[in-house]
Amino acid sequence: MDCIFCKIIKGEIPSTKVYEDEKILAFKDINPMAPVHVLVIPKEHIPSCDGITAQNSAVVAHIFENIPEIAKKCGCTNGYRVITNCGDDAKQSVKHLHFHILGGKSLPENMG
Ligand code: 5GP
Ligand code: ZN
Repeated sequence: MDCIFCKIIKGEIPSTKVYEDEKILAFKDINPMAPVHVLVIPKEHIPSCDGITAQNSAVVAHIFENIPEIAKKCGCTNGYRVITNCGDDAKQSVKHLHFHILGGKSLPENMG
């Protein structure tokens, strides 16, 4: 499958990893929108939020169980934003479920 994030998981594309365990990976976004911009992904290929089911949702819970520690480790000491884009209207560009952690500054209020 031609998926950039699956290639990052396999080490075929380099990334700056900030957290990894058997189920998930967190790495710095290549085009940061804030001083802290990290992507958290399941190692299992799930295309987007639309692909979350009762069978695979445990990994999503696992991601959220780890987000506070990842955010703080990366420097979000005064809050952070978690975003996932799903589908064309949201401009999802990589079709592997990922959660953006944004922080390290006071973020704009407008979400679109
Ligand atoms: P989306 O627009 O799908 O929500 O977000 C995809 C994100 O992946 C973008 O913020 C983009 O900068 C990031 N990205 C795309 N390709 C790569 C890559 O090869 N390495 C890293 N670290 N980030 C990437
Ligand atoms: Zn993938």
